[in-house]
Amino acid sequence: PPQGYYTRRGGLGESGDFITSPEISQVFGELIGIWYISEWMAMGKPNTFQLVELGPGRGTLTEDILRVFKQLASVLSKCDVSVHLVEVSPKLSEIQAVMLTGGKVQPNPEDESAYMKGISKTGIPIFWYRDIQDVPPGYSFYLAHEFFDALPIHKFQRTERGWREVLVDIDPEVPDQLRFVLSPSRTPATQNFIQPEETRDHVEVCPEAGVIVQRLASRIEKDGGAALVADYGHDGTKTDTFRGFRNHKLHDVLSAPGTADLTADVDFSYLRKMAQGRAATLGPIKQREFLKNMGIDLRLQVLLQNSGDTATREQLLHSYDMLMNPEKMGDCFNFFALLPHHRLVHPDKKDKPQSKSPLPPVAGFNELLLK
Ligand code: SAH
Repeated sequence: PPQGYYTRRGGLGESGDFITSPEISQVFGELIGIWYISEWMAMGKPNTFQLVELGPGRGTLTEDILRVFKQLASVLSKCDVSVHLVEVSPKLSEIQAVMLTGGKVQPNPEDESAYMKGISKTGIPIFWYRDIQDVPPGYSFYLAHEFFDALPIHKFQRTERGWREVLVDIDPEVPDQLRFVLSPSRTPATQNFIQPEETRDHVEVCPEAGVIVQRLASRIEKDGGAALVADYGHDGTKTDTFRGFRNHKLHDVLSAPGTADLTADVDFSYLRKMAQGRAATLGPIKQREFLKNMGIDLRLQVLLQNSGDTATREQLLHSYDMLMNPEKMGDCFNFFALLPHHRLVHPDKKDKPQSKSPLPPVAGFNELLLK
């Protein structure tokens, strides 16, 4: 806990170890803000909701979303909105507090399960937690952008003698050097985390992601809302994706532990399985398709028209290319949603198919239709 990457370093941004979509363009967060408003409207405009973000990084995404909420204040006027951030990194939570509240926060508020609270520059209450379980129950919109890829994975390899776990060992030949080894026999993890129908020979499993998705699905089933998960990942097809980044360059995962960002692609097929029964899922859909459906082209045109100088216009076009180009972030990043079952299928559809108006399509996964 004291020497981990996110507690010690957490180097996000241009001067750090990696860069994320919300840090590249404000449009990204704005379109996600529109997604929540669109779902809020489709679900009958409940009079209160919590926006819950897992791993908010520098707080940029929340900041962009809250700006959209402010711009659409007339739409949200009768709705009581609060923000709940789940963040383990003391350093990043400080950066988030400055970004979102100007630094005016109260640590360890006595009456709350949160470790910190404050008010956003736009007047919305914000709370910080270390665990999703500390977030109070209630109608919530969840967001996990580049969060699940940061959680630890188990690695497995199929051998002639059955599944073995890939473990980390100290190299007996070289001092201070770690190495990968295969477990000599089965381990509790090989017995518990590999799906019986698995066909790959090398598999990475993130049980912590599974547990969090189960919690999100239960919360959505019980209290309503929706979750949007965006990350680089695959649908149960990739094998060896575990890697490290330091100063924007690939970094050997076993060297200088705690100083590099360690990451593994998110297995969306696993997340879908973990949500099953409790919540419906949509996706994964490629980032460029999701953003296109959300109207990124129109938003870009408006920003280009409103920007006077060439440098800003070039920056807008460059960041659009980073987000949308299939060779850059457009194809490898995916969007995935958890929704209450009734959001996709009328509960009594089978009995009286004509009696209800059709359910509005879910934006992003279909074209955005805001009325
Ligand atoms: N969503 C942000 C940041 C992504 S980096 C963006 O896209 O820019 C991953 C974030 O998850 C960081 O804020 C990190 O501190 C946080 N994090 C990592 N492990 C966590 C855990 N177990 N619980 C809560 N937050 C965690």
